[in-house]
Amino acid sequence: MRIGLGYLLQETNTFSPVETQVKDFHPLFGKPLIEQWRGTRTELGAFLDTIEPSGHEAVPLFAGWAMTAGRMSAAAFQGLRESLMAQVRQSGPYDGLLLALHGALSAQGTDDCDGAILEAVREIVGDRVPLITTLDLHANLTAKITRLADAVIGYKTYPHVDMYETGQAAAELMLRTLRGEVRPVTRMRKLPLIVPPENQQTTHGPMRTVWDMAEAYRREHPEILSVSVFGVQPWLDIDEMGCATLAVADRNHESAQRCAEESARKLWDLRAELEVERVEPRAAIRDALATTGGPVVLADSADSPTAGAPGDSAELVRLLIEEAPHVPTIAWVRDPAAVAQAWQLRPGDPIRTSIGGAFTKDLVRPVEIEGRVRSLSDGRFVFRGAYNNGMLNEMGRTAVIDVGALSIVVSEEAASGIGTEVFRSQGLEPEYQKIIVVKSANSFRSEYGPFMVKAIMVDTPGLSSSNLRSLPYKRVSRPIHPLDEIEDPFGR
Ligand SMILES: [Zn+2]
Repeated sequence: MRIGLGYLLQETNTFSPVETQVKDFHPLFGKPLIEQWRGTRTELGAFLDTIEPSGHEAVPLFAGWAMTAGRMSAAAFQGLRESLMAQVRQSGPYDGLLLALHGALSAQGTDDCDGAILEAVREIVGDRVPLITTLDLHANLTAKITRLADAVIGYKTYPHVDMYETGQAAAELMLRTLRGEVRPVTRMRKLPLIVPPENQQTTHGPMRTVWDMAEAYRREHPEILSVSVFGVQPWLDIDEMGCATLAVADRNHESAQRCAEESARKLWDLRAELEVERVEPRAAIRDALATTGGPVVLADSADSPTAGAPGDSAELVRLLIEEAPHVPTIAWVRDPAAVAQAWQLRPGDPIRTSIGGAFTKDLVRPVEIEGRVRSLSDGRFVFRGAYNNGMLNEMGRTAVIDVGALSIVVSEEAASGIGTEVFRSQGLEPEYQKIIVVKSANSFRSEYGPFMVKAIMVDTPGLSSSNLRSLPYKRVSRPIHPLDEIEDPFGR
């Protein structure tokens, strides 16, 4: 049998002014993608590892991912969708399709791009071919996605460390479906609820409790094939927005619906525990300095590129230069103009420049810095830790600028704050620092967790602020928690 494989991930932040371009996905089509993706700890790596030895034919269709940013233009998304579908059309027919999507991709005029991609695929292959899709835990699950896919499987971990296992589960479910052992049906329960990511970790806390309940249901009901809990990233100003739970059952719609309902009720009941406590920036730095040992992570989650902020805030850099100039510290800031200036120089040369506010002038101020160019690089690196191990990252031309004991990685493009490789690839060892500024809300814990002494959630400005009431929502369906007073959605 022939099983088509696709991978296209982006988590759009509709508040970001930086338009997502097709080139940001670095898309690959057909056979060439196998060489780059085989062996990676991604959904696609798992699709290949599971389908190829099964004796069925793995048909590589498309693969690409883009760092979080603003909506694509209508024309860009149309172009992207057409090139994906041209490949789907030309490589058929299929006995099954495995697609890895994020579930929060949005364009001008198309809020639910993942649903639109599934719709276009269905137009080509029809309703009969089994189609299983994986989604990020921060997907905004829609009625369209749930209707068009035979089964949907979300990540179970945050920080996300189970992309491979999620892909494997989807591929194994596909094989069981093709053998006629199961007939998956999918049901969801949507909630009028948005929550910040800082406290959505699945290792402990409220989300763990929801997962434990969902997993207990699955164990007691053998017809349940998979359960997912979608915490949704909150920076998505679209009408069908909100957390959701979902269950895939073998034939049994009622059980799938009941499983989703019970998990959703638990999530709703624990919503207050998902609120975040943030520390004022100067107090956070002083707390870090007063802490024995290191490193201490200062989480600048309001400017997190994987949440769609441009990564251009140097607010913490400014305060660190004032408060802790002799303390070994590393930080990353995106600033194309500063990179261009550094690239006119050579390592060791003195540099006087300004960083910060390249994309969000209204939110963050530029900071004048005076230091030395430490190194220059092309900004290409590969994740080596628990997060998407083996996957290539490109943060554009990069310079490391030393100001006192502070080393600032400055790059042209956004870099994921999740992995330590953003620093290690530049010759900076995170374990040797006293303070590390990480632009990530929670995901950084998978890689920094083993050696950091603590993390402080800093109350900084930015487009991925966890202060949801401060965000300019216009299109989200109201009422929704925590923006409005709201009645119990279960009518209790
Ligand atoms: Zn996510």
